Amino acid sequence: MPYEVINGNCIDHNVHVVDLRSDTISRPTQAMRDAMATAEVGDDVFGEDPTVAKLERRAAALLGKEAAAFIPSGTMANLIAIMVHCERRGSEMIAGDNGHTFLFEQGGPAQIAGVQSALIPNKDDGTFCLEEVRRKIRIDPDCHEPYTSLIVVENTHNMCGGKVLPLEWLDDLYKLASEYKIPIHMDGARVMNAAVQSQVPVSRIVRDMASVCFCLSKSLGCPIGSILCGSKTFIAKAKRTRKALGGGMRQSGIVAAAGLVALDTMIDRLKIDHEHTYSIAKAIYDMDSDIFRVDLDTVQTNILMVYLDQTKVSSKQFLHRLATVVETDSVKVSVRGGSRNPACVRFVVYWEITNKDVTAAIEKIRLVIREIHAQYKIK
Ligand SMILES: *Cc1c(COP(=O)(O)O)cnc(C)c1O
Repeated sequence: MPYEVINGNCIDHNVHVVDLRSDTISRPTQAMRDAMATAEVGDDVFGEDPTVAKLERRAAALLGKEAAAFIPSGTMANLIAIMVHCERRGSEMIAGDNGHTFLFEQGGPAQIAGVQSALIPNKDDGTFCLEEVRRKIRIDPDCHEPYTSLIVVENTHNMCGGKVLPLEWLDDLYKLASEYKIPIHMDGARVMNAAVQSQVPVSRIVRDMASVCFCLSKSLGCPIGSILCGSKTFIAKAKRTRKALGGGMRQSGIVAAAGLVALDTMIDRLKIDHEHTYSIAKAIYDMDSDIFRVDLDTVQTNILMVYLDQTKVSSKQFLHRLATVVETDSVKVSVRGGSRNPACVRFVVYWEITNKDVTAAIEKIRLVIREIHAQYKIK
């Protein structure tokens, strides 16, 4: 009888579950729970929560920005940034077509901010063509055209497999944008992974960004929350917009306390996640499969994309088999992953994934790939 694994929980305790669906499922560390239990709090809408204020000061300093705001989610942080930069009606923002703001925020820029997206195809490394940016910028728009009010970049790039944006590209983009005085917002949900991987201070990576947000709730392990940083004027407007969207929180120092622990203890250790991700990638790569493809050069941080030949096996079938343990399996491991398209599976690593989990996941992935190879009489 196959054991079905539902929401990461397996009914059979002899089965080792390795849940690689997303780093959002990472749970808070004990140190975070301790800090939350004793956090000093107040009403943050009144500006009276000392723990939130401390987190905002610490985050702004780390990113080299004047100010910061604690926001319930990354989606809201991006939306607020877009609303503030594009406060002029009839605005347009330039963004990558594989970006989170376009794909996975329910069309928030259009639906809520009233902003039109001018999309440029993302390249495999998360960048897009700068010549195309230049062509898309509306110079002295006449009454037919929207105003180009913002450029959005994503770092690391989620759908491009956790790729770190090359610094030279960011510098060139800034040079171009500043010719036209257009601000750049960085969706830096995993910008700390970018900093650790490239060994460049995060403040340098975001130096020329008018605003940047990052998630505390993903690779940094916090239960909830994102940080949005920018100038004092920008953050004052951002806090006003946050309230309009229902994101004004009261004794949010309880969760901000976890954020402070994350900034202290969860950034440098990201290199372990990157090593773990690479180990899984290498194991698949070493199988030299025609059906399962991994581009090792592009596995940089905690996200691994595995591309499959969907004429042989779909991502859904592959994921289902990985999550299922049958009696004849030599390894009793259930591996969970995610997918948004039939030709690609995504695995994401985070702090709770141990060496032992990585070894177990590799064993199970190998077993399933060999099984599928056997079906097609490969090797
Ligand atoms: C997860 C994610 C977001 C949104 O964050 P939530 O907290 O889930 O709303 C935004 N951008 C990128 C690149 C992300 O990966």
